[in-house]
Amino acid sequence: MKYYSLNNPNEFVSFKEALTKGLAPDKGLYFPESIPVLGQGFIDILPYLSNTEIAYEVLKHFVGEEIPERDFKKIVEEAFDFELPTVALDSKTAVLELFHGPSMAFKDVGARFMAGCLSYFEKESFDGEDLHILVATSGDTGGAVAAGFYGKPGVKVHVLYPKGKVSEFQEHQLTSLGDNIYSYAVNGDFDKCQHIVKQAFIDPNINLSLSSANSINIGRWLSQMIYYFIAYKDLNNPKDLAISVPSGNFGNICAGLVAREMGLPIKQFIAATNANDTVVRFMETKLYAPNPTVATISNAMDVSNPSNFVRIQELLGGSLANFEAHSYSDAQAIEAISELYQDYNYVSEPHGAIAYLGLQKYLKQDPEARGLFLATAHPVKFMEVLPDHIQEKAAVGVAMPESQWPRPQHREIVDYASFVNSLESYVVS
Ligand SMILES: *Cc1c(COP(=O)(O)O)cnc(C)c1O
Repeated sequence: MKYYSLNNPNEFVSFKEALTKGLAPDKGLYFPESIPVLGQGFIDILPYLSNTEIAYEVLKHFVGEEIPERDFKKIVEEAFDFELPTVALDSKTAVLELFHGPSMAFKDVGARFMAGCLSYFEKESFDGEDLHILVATSGDTGGAVAAGFYGKPGVKVHVLYPKGKVSEFQEHQLTSLGDNIYSYAVNGDFDKCQHIVKQAFIDPNINLSLSSANSINIGRWLSQMIYYFIAYKDLNNPKDLAISVPSGNFGNICAGLVAREMGLPIKQFIAATNANDTVVRFMETKLYAPNPTVATISNAMDVSNPSNFVRIQELLGGSLANFEAHSYSDAQAIEAISELYQDYNYVSEPHGAIAYLGLQKYLKQDPEARGLFLATAHPVKFMEVLPDHIQEKAAVGVAMPESQWPRPQHREIVDYASFVNSLESYVVS
């Protein structure tokens, strides 16, 4: 499979190059040259395949000959080695839980798949020099990427997070792994972390081989399409399936749309957002006009200019058929968390609850449909915002970080120069 930049449809690169570069040199997102169609035969046998078999059969088309079968099977097995259960709430509504991985957010699968592929190529062409991955995180991404690369030879991960602006739970995840994972608490906000990373990429004085693990990377983006195949299988090949996806950067839902292009019969996709409603307004007015980003309690979706929207447009063209988008406030999300608990005894958190609201809205107008919404984070990660009577339920069965992890280790960063100092001292040591 070859990939082209959405800024230049005439130049193609290999899977390896698109994966290693992340973003094309012309700043365009990479997109597969064609979407393979799997045929009804494959859909019919889904119930007989394991999750890793499905992942292998689907994703092999996007990697082609570049990774040998044996190595690729191993990468897929490692990326999908935790449960992705579909839980039925009633005969019409089910929830796909994507939060049972090491960082308890759905980004684990994508991060692990990307880490597996990148480490494979790094090992193949290892010239004695480590690859350094720089990640700026507002909380969830850094934990998933760090866990994905933890212990991988030839790769070092540097995670920058805004000091005091991630939850205690997240800070433990970001700082206590050790080994090839280095953490930096930046005195500033997420934008400052991102700024430092961007500066490092263009700094001629840094003589390290640098890469990013951004969510637009094809390794992270494409592997998410497997969720949809797995849910379809677990629901026993349902007719008229509508899926609601809590969306921020729109990578996850865009992967779902690719799955549909490949032949997975999904009737409707619903993008559910928080107050950052650029796509919702676009669907109404056809004007793409991002507002400044608003902080919400579903903070992993606080994105006002979603990078993957250009991929959605490439995929669906101008029509955007069987795709809708709705936005919900913090108050509505909290109300939905209470409703899910009261009606179904189900413990949710703001991201999943927003997806639930989007699904409810759709099911009212299409009562024949089966509905699925995606739960992208473990409720315990958002304990602070859950109603009191639900908080204790959220923690049931979860080992809290204090007891699970050793003391956090990180360097304090005040500016770009102090980051470079720390980076260099880490690399030498
Ligand atoms: C990243 C994230 C999202 C949004 O996913 P996108 O692919 O960026 O749309 C939703 N929920 C949680 C918990 C996340 O971490």
